[in-house]
Amino acid sequence: MAWSSSNRKSQLPADWAQRCKYVLARDGHRCQHIRVDTERKCLQYANQCDHKDQSRSWDHSYENLQSLCEYHHKVKSSSEGGQAAAARRKAAKKRRHPGLLP
Ligand SMILES: [Zn+2]
Repeated sequence: MAWSSSNRKSQLPADWAQRCKYVLARDGHRCQHIRVDTERKCLQYANQCDHKDQSRSWDHSYENLQSLCEYHHKVKSSSEGGQAAAARRKAAKKRRHPGLLP
């Protein structure tokens, strides 16, 4: 077994599947993704779980986990950098003092 083949997966705790089950049950198998257009939860059938706050992907506490439908999980994980990019765009938008950017 090549443990180092996937860094991202290896960071998940051993009981990840268990946690996912719990989170999905807690959220009633409804996607918790807040839609940007309606600002409401997506609420489609969820069978994935993911970190709410990607910048705290090391935080596997239940508070930082949410259920996602397949679509939003795909969108989120296919653009893990997408969030960072969005944050950068946001930061660029309200840029006043470039020297203060991270
Ligand atoms: Zn969704």
